[in-house]
Amino acid sequence: MEISEPELLRATSPRRVLRGFGRVLRLDLALGQKHWEKWSRPTRQIGQFWSHSWQADPWAKVLLLFLVCNGMPAIVVGTLAALAASFLCGFGILPGYLHTPWNHPELVVEQGPWSLASGCVSSLLVLLLLRSGRSVFLDRICIHQSDEHLKGLAIMNMGGLLKNSESLLVMWDSTYAERLWCVFELAAYLKSHEDSSCKLMVRPVLLGPLTLITFFVVTLRSCILVAGFPVVSKDVLAGLSAVAALLAVCALQVQKLRGYNRSMEALQHQLSSFSFAQTKSYCCSANHKDDNGAPFRCDREILLECITLWFGSVESFEQCVQSKVSASLLSGLGSHALPYSWILAASSPFLWAAADSAASLFRCGEWRIGLPYLLNGLAWWLAATPALFVVCGLVSHRLRARADRQCVDLLKSIVGAVFIIILALLAAAAQQACFTLVDDELHAALAFSGGMTLLAGITWRKCKPS
Ligand SMILES: [Zn+2]
Repeated sequence: MEISEPELLRATSPRRVLRGFGRVLRLDLALGQKHWEKWSRPTRQIGQFWSHSWQADPWAKVLLLFLVCNGMPAIVVGTLAALAASFLCGFGILPGYLHTPWNHPELVVEQGPWSLASGCVSSLLVLLLLRSGRSVFLDRICIHQSDEHLKGLAIMNMGGLLKNSESLLVMWDSTYAERLWCVFELAAYLKSHEDSSCKLMVRPVLLGPLTLITFFVVTLRSCILVAGFPVVSKDVLAGLSAVAALLAVCALQVQKLRGYNRSMEALQHQLSSFSFAQTKSYCCSANHKDDNGAPFRCDREILLECITLWFGSVESFEQCVQSKVSASLLSGLGSHALPYSWILAASSPFLWAAADSAASLFRCGEWRIGLPYLLNGLAWWLAATPALFVVCGLVSHRLRARADRQCVDLLKSIVGAVFIIILALLAAAAQQACFTLVDDELHAALAFSGGMTLLAGITWRKCKPS
C-alpha cells in the first residue's frame, strides 16, 4: 500500500469543493468541466479522505459538507452574536416592541427579536461563507478525469492514498454499500490503518437536510414565542398559520427519518450478505465506453488486482466487509439519526429566543422573572428537544414502511408529526404546571429543567430503534 509516484498524492480544500454550492459534486461529468484536477495540488499527507457514492443526492451531500466543515464555527459565532445582542437589548441600547411575557399577563415589557435574528443571520452567513483551509481528497478533483493513464495509476495507488489519509469521512446513503468503489475505499482505509490510529467519521447524507429542517422548525417555533402568540390566543389566524407551518415542516422531518430507517434496514441486509460480484460500478453500467464511444478499462479488473494483493483473495475481502467494515459503518452511524451535538446545534434558536425574553425582563429590572426564563430556554435546548428527537426517531422507525399510495404515505408522516407536536405541547404544559404549582419561579424553572434532564437522559439511553 505504498504510492508509486509522489505526484499522485494530491489534495484540495473544502473551499474548492464547496465553490458555487458544490458545483463539482452536482455537475454531470459529461456536461461539466473535466479538468477539475487543476484545483488540487501535490501533498505529503491528506487531512481527510471524502468517500461518497455518486448515486447519492448531490444537494444533500453539499449541505452535509457545509455542516461538517462550517457547522460548529457557525453555531459558536451565532451564539456569541445572540449573546451580544441580548446584552445590548438588556441595557436598553437596542429598541423593542411592547410585549406581555408568558405567565405574567400583568406585565408589559419592551422586547426585541435581536438575539434570535442576529444568531440566525450570523450563523447562516458563517455556514455559507467560511472557507476552511484543511486538506481533503475528493476523487473528481484529486484524480485526473481526462487522462486515462493517470486515472488508472491513481486507482492502482488508491491503497497508498488511503494510507496517507489522516481520517476518512464516509458520506453514507442507501447506495453506498452496493457501490464497489465505496466499499473498497472503506475496507482499504481500515486495512491500511490496522497498525495506526484510525479516524473514521460516518455521516448519513440525509443529516444535511435533516439538520437544516430541524433548525428551521426550531427557528419557526422560536419566532412564534418571540412574536408573542404561543399557540392560539390573541390572534387566532396568526396562531393557526404558525401551527400549520410547524406541522408541515415537522411532517417533512418525519418523512425524511422514515426514509433513513428504511435505508438502515437495507444496509444491515446488504452488508451481512455482501459479495464482490453483486456490487455495482460506473464503468460497467457505462459499458466501458466514454461519451465519444472510446473504450476504457474496467475498474473491477484493477480493483480485483488490488484486493488480491492486499486482502489475499476476494473471499477474504468479502469476509472483511461482512465483519469489520460492517461493524465500523454501523457503529459510526450510531443508534440515533442525529448525534446529540448536532441536535444542540440545530436547536440553538431556542437558546437565542430565551435570551431575547430574558433580556426584555432584565431591561426593566425583573431579574427574578428573567432568570427562570433563561433556565427554561436551556432546558428546552439541552433536554426537551433531544428527547423529542429521540421519540421522533422511534415514531419514524415504527412508521418506516412505505405505503403503496403516495397520499397514504404522506398521511403516515403527518400522523407522526401530529404525535410529536402533541408531545411538545405536553412538555409545554409540564412547564406551565411547574410554574402554577411552585410559588417561587426560580424553583419552578429548576424543577422543570431537572425533570426534562432526567427524561432526556432516560430516552437517549434507553429508547433506541431496534
Ligand atoms: Zn466495469
